[in-house]
Amino acid sequence: MRFITVLGATGSIGSSTLSLVAQHPDRFSIFALSAHQQIEKMAHLCQQFHPRIVCVQNQSQVKILKDLLGSACPAVVYGENGLIEIASDPSTDTVVAAIVGAAGLAPTLAAARAGKTVLLANKEALVVAGPLFIDAVKNHNCTLLPIDSEHNALLQCLPKNFNDANAVEVDSLLLTASGGPFWRRDHATLDQVSVAEAIHHPKWTMGQKISIDSATMVNKGLEVIEARWLFNMPSTKIKVVIHPQSIIHSIVNYCDGSSLAQMGAPDMKIPISHVLDYPNRIFSGVAPLDFSQLSELTFAAPDHQRFPALSLCYRSLDSGQIACTHLNAANEVAVAAFLNEQIKFTQITQTIETVLHQSIRETGLCESLEEIIEQDKIARKNAHHFIQSSLDQLRR
Ligand code: NAD
Ligand code: MG
Repeated sequence: MRFITVLGATGSIGSSTLSLVAQHPDRFSIFALSAHQQIEKMAHLCQQFHPRIVCVQNQSQVKILKDLLGSACPAVVYGENGLIEIASDPSTDTVVAAIVGAAGLAPTLAAARAGKTVLLANKEALVVAGPLFIDAVKNHNCTLLPIDSEHNALLQCLPKNFNDANAVEVDSLLLTASGGPFWRRDHATLDQVSVAEAIHHPKWTMGQKISIDSATMVNKGLEVIEARWLFNMPSTKIKVVIHPQSIIHSIVNYCDGSSLAQMGAPDMKIPISHVLDYPNRIFSGVAPLDFSQLSELTFAAPDHQRFPALSLCYRSLDSGQIACTHLNAANEVAVAAFLNEQIKFTQITQTIETVLHQSIRETGLCESLEEIIEQDKIARKNAHHFIQSSLDQLRR
């Protein structure tokens, strides 16, 4: 029996994870769950999964949850300390990191430092703190397995020592990208896209932030950085190809000319089920592909002019960890501003570019979580400043 903590239980990845847990009550038991805003949904999850402890955002939510559940309410903690507590508790062995954004870093790092099996959806944790995170994994005997579909595909195609792909016979890692909703859209009209258009991903149903990241292709850039740390590969050996059907989830090219790919329906229950009882495979409820119905699999090089964010991510990776921390923070601020209809779609990438330009000399490495949080704050301030001055200019 695995005792599981799900950080971000009310989100898209959290829900897919819990539906798999519900299918396998003989293998998995929920130790802890976290939610940020959806307290009623959390109350339902408590009734269904009977966690021993849950984490919510603040004290007033603790009261709401206790009122909703009465004597059936589990122990409730709150805030970042609460998240760290449920991620590192000795009674849990597996932590699903499914909080969105840099907010997931502290608890995910705590899980790594406590030597847990960490099933990572929260790619931002690796983008923001790659070297520190990987050191924690190595020094504390943590098993880090990717949920992100591309990285999970690579895990499935790599040999057992996957976390040092550069040392095995790998020529390159090829991340596939659907291209998002706009890969064929007229470049000149991108500044007019609405939130509804940007959020509507052609192939995947996901949370709001990652849907926007997919539309700008920041998501693929974050995934290049994620792959660099998960598989210890230099950026020159991590490539991206557009594959609009989202059937091949990524490819490992070997030095002898062989390419191994993982295929499946675009459903996150596949990669989650692959790591949930790793290395055993479990029933996911997703049917295998019907190849007789697959009319075509197509591929194209990414258009860096249309999606400059991808190049910005490669540039940040080559500049160093602080640039990646700034890139992520600027993107989080800009995506929130776009979702609030404060800035245009194209200004998301402009915000990132401006913030990175300001941090161009920041080539160093943070030694601690505190230093990373400090850098994250600087970049958020710069991003807010750029957005505010753009708004002021519009008003003039
Ligand atoms: P989501 O928005 O659906 O869910 C996010 C979860 O995080 C929710 O449970 C929310 O309560 C919690 N959360 C949000 N802000 C928080 C904060 N400040 N503090 C604590 N908790 C907070 O997002 P999602 O689509 O499930 O994505 C989660 C992570 O998984 C992201 O990093 C995303 O990039 C990654 N991911 C998602 C998918 C997908 O298909 N959805 C695929 C690959 C990777
Ligand atoms: Mg992905």
